[in-house]
Amino acid sequence: MSGRPDPDARAAELREQLAYHSQRYYVEDDPEIGDEEYDTLYRELVEIEAAHPELVTTDSPTQRPGGAPVERLEKVVHRQPMLSLANVRSEEELRAWVARMRTHLAREGIENPRFRFVCEPKIDGLAVSLIYRDGVLERGATRGNGEIGEDVTHNLRTIAQIPRQIDGAPALLEVRGEIYISLPDFQALNERRAEQGLSTFMNPRNSAAGTIRQLDPALSAQRPLSMWAYAIGAVEGLELTDQWEVLAWLREHGFPVSHEIVILDEEEAVVTQCLEWQRRRGALDFEIDGVVVKVSDFELQRRLGAVGRDPRWAVAWKFPPTTAKTRLIAVHWNVGKFGDLHPFAELEPVRVGGVTVRMATLHNEEDLARKDLREGDEVIVLRAGDVIPQVVSPAPHALENPDRRPPVRVPSRCPICATPTVKPAGAVFTHCPNRECPGRQWQLLRHFVSRGAMDIDGLGEKQVGVLLERGLVRSAVDLYALREDQLLELDGFAEISAKRLLAAIEASRRRPFARVLFAIGIEEVGEVTARNVAAQFRHIDALLAATPAEIEQTPGVGPKMAATIAEQLADPAHRELISRLRTAGLRFEEDGPPPAEGPLAGLGFVLTGTLPTLTREAATELIQAAGGRVASAVSRKTDYLVAGDSAGSKLAKAERLGVTVIDEAGLLKLLGA
Ligand code: NAD
Repeated sequence: MSGRPDPDARAAELREQLAYHSQRYYVEDDPEIGDEEYDTLYRELVEIEAAHPELVTTDSPTQRPGGAPVERLEKVVHRQPMLSLANVRSEEELRAWVARMRTHLAREGIENPRFRFVCEPKIDGLAVSLIYRDGVLERGATRGNGEIGEDVTHNLRTIAQIPRQIDGAPALLEVRGEIYISLPDFQALNERRAEQGLSTFMNPRNSAAGTIRQLDPALSAQRPLSMWAYAIGAVEGLELTDQWEVLAWLREHGFPVSHEIVILDEEEAVVTQCLEWQRRRGALDFEIDGVVVKVSDFELQRRLGAVGRDPRWAVAWKFPPTTAKTRLIAVHWNVGKFGDLHPFAELEPVRVGGVTVRMATLHNEEDLARKDLREGDEVIVLRAGDVIPQVVSPAPHALENPDRRPPVRVPSRCPICATPTVKPAGAVFTHCPNRECPGRQWQLLRHFVSRGAMDIDGLGEKQVGVLLERGLVRSAVDLYALREDQLLELDGFAEISAKRLLAAIEASRRRPFARVLFAIGIEEVGEVTARNVAAQFRHIDALLAATPAEIEQTPGVGPKMAATIAEQLADPAHRELISRLRTAGLRFEEDGPPPAEGPLAGLGFVLTGTLPTLTREAATELIQAAGGRVASAVSRKTDYLVAGDSAGSKLAKAERLGVTVIDEAGLLKLLGA
């Protein structure tokens, strides 16, 4: 930073800014700037300190990890400091790191060291330390400032993956790992919170960090926390010689250890691995912000030591950021299939997480108001993994803009059909009450043909719109009366595509009862509920005749849900749709023998990862048709985990609980296929 006149003043300024942002990030779990921006400030400070070592202060963020422990939690002094990691952002920087290690070791008299590198996904969560005494979990703590952390034992005990007790453990053992929320769990959590009108979380890391530091363990028990273990800290009575051995030991003793981790001999291979994960980042079901590369050999680690807050023997290869700044051009409103108005953002196109983002979700009107997002604001956009991009907040300086527009108003008329909107007391969403609203019709039909529902290939959102506009289809049942000559008159249909669509519609008549029930769009009846209701009643007539109390007997259905379902099914419009779809030949009863008689009767299954040929839906249907149960989480009640590619935390948990793990071929064998 030789261009700057006064490095002393600049260093002080940077330290102050970094301290402020560390407080927001580590203590309040509410960062104001993206990691990239933070890292840029941090690097500038590192460069100044390298050029002027006399300016390094003991409280500099380069000397200890950020995150003063919060007052309300008990403090814990770590037996061994929990360090941070230096970052590299390119192949050159990674090679420079290896070269620096060689130089350092040469000074120690070790020429040509033989490095073996363990490459681990850098999970974007919160580091914790678990202390086991004689194999019993005694205490769990956060990293804090590296020397003093916070006691969060009460919350860590709510995480099923963390063993309370381990067999064959040494007298003292400290296991270190990362607490995180998987991406599907994060998305479901935010959806649930949006539905309930609660504030949504900015990203999985902040929600995991916020949750683990709650005082009330009941709260963390409600939020789906997971853990990956990746290191052993203080230990008495166990001799291991390298990181690879540590991971194997942890796995054997019931700790969740990622199956993605590899050990490599060559620098070249490390670079390839880092780039490969960077490319595949979105395919994992948890968020990673980089790759941690560690020298495996403990003797070499010891010789290399640490510099400031970072060990010399490990680095974090950081991926490009998943947040970006852009302008919020306008807020628009979507009408959902039940008439609910959902806000979404039109953005100035921006590259984030490897794709160009133009639209982002704003969840619900209360979230929009709480975040105080206004049209024209510069905003922070986040795209984590494959999660739908979201607008996180206005950029900090946007709030100071004197020309800011007024807050966004919820439309008083439906943006599609102009009917005056309503917001029933206690509802989260403002509604368009018009059942004939083309916006609602379009969503209902899109839902009907979608993959989890009737799965009619060749009917994208555009074609659905055209069919409705031309009046060829007014409700789902009209699809079953479409003719080729009608399709040929539409833009985008030639003979082949028209024939193909008609064949897809024809094939959909054979979808099982549960799918039909889901497809017709009954409030509260999602995919899982539809399957459970279908299995419970087995025939539409039994369901139509059921009282709310009888519907409540269905697994997973509570009184409120049962009342809504009964009310919806009593609605003449639904009755008419059901009766016409029955006439069209759709299935309104369960096939095959009652579950109690199928080959998988009484067995519990969980699916994870990508199976080679079967989709999740298809595998679920096969299992259920054979009498098995399919659950979303592994527990002691699970008999089989069916694991495909990229299986994550569920696989680790199944292994820990001793659940039998099978692949697709194994499942087909059980089914007798
Ligand atoms: P770090 O995130 O760069 O690396 C260390 C951490 O990585 C460990 O403590 C551990 O939690 C985690 N980790 C994940 N997988 C691991 C594995 N397999 N092995 C070992 N560790 C693993 O360091 P840090 O000190 O926690 O945080 C610094 C980073 O935090 C910065 O690079 C910045 O991106 C971010 N930050 C952002 C802000 C902000 O305002 N946006 C503020 C402060 C810090």
